[in-house]
Amino acid sequence: MTEQVYEPGPDGMKRRRLTTVTVERPRCPACAGVKLRKYRSLTDQGDSSALWWVRCPCGHRFRVLLE
Ligand SMILES: [Zn+2]
Repeated sequence: MTEQVYEPGPDGMKRRRLTTVTVERPRCPACAGVKLRKYRSLTDQGDSSALWWVRCPCGHRFRVLLE
């Protein structure tokens, strides 16, 4: 997680600093590739999380849980 520090604006006032939340792409645990093909998904689990079944070009298949 990184936090961006804003430069003072043209009016000289310092902008409000907002926290930046970084969402990383799912990566293949075998080759760290990000070009994953989703072939099945389960999006309604009651808590707004989603589960994907993905396949990497390297042939590795795995699941991705999006919280
Ligand atoms: Zn892979």
